[in-house]
Amino acid sequence: MTIRTILCDADDTLWYDARYFRKLENYFLEICEGVGVTRYEALKELNRVLMSESGAGEARFKNAIIRCCKKINSGGLQDLQYECRKFDNHRIELLAGVREVLTSIQLEKYMVTKGNKAEQLVKVEKSGLGELFKNIFVMNSKKREEYIDIILKCDLDPAKIIIIGNSVKHDITPVIELGGMAIWLNHDENSYGNNAKLPKSAFVAENWLEVQDIVGALT
Ligand SMILES: [Mg+2]
Repeated sequence: MTIRTILCDADDTLWYDARYFRKLENYFLEICEGVGVTRYEALKELNRVLMSESGAGEARFKNAIIRCCKKINSGGLQDLQYECRKFDNHRIELLAGVREVLTSIQLEKYMVTKGNKAEQLVKVEKSGLGELFKNIFVMNSKKREEYIDIILKCDLDPAKIIIIGNSVKHDITPVIELGGMAIWLNHDENSYGNNAKLPKSAFVAENWLEVQDIVGALT
């Protein structure tokens, strides 16, 4: 089977992302610990607030943390604002080899990311990778139907698509269900992307050099 099109996830596939959420979460957990709230209770409350928070991505997470901090009334709101600003303005650190490997792959490439459109486009801009892609799609849910929309819009042949992504649930499974192929990029900061049973036909890579080898063998 010859592949013709690459779909590529962005957060924690092209650049590190989850680590900044965990940093802000750890700050919140330390505050909780300081006022005698257990880690379990704190995370339970954070999840509850997150469920009720509208929006997506960084803004939603930050707003949930702020609401939780205000609720436990820990004082130190200036510190909280400082931490949130750091979270908002975090740098974009690419995974090793991303630019080189993407540049070497002579196939049409589409970025398929999920979250708040404005936030995601700022990250694309900071990454400097935008021009390597034919188009960039910021999706809402990454459910199968949304991938079908992209396939139709770009007139793609599902059997000739391969997706590269870190999330089994959002990247790998839906594309395989549509008849495409997939490379699960399971790098060393990817515990959150191990979120569903990996389909048997998926390839697994631990880094971008391994991605390059797999794509090379399929083209
Ligand atoms: Mg991702």
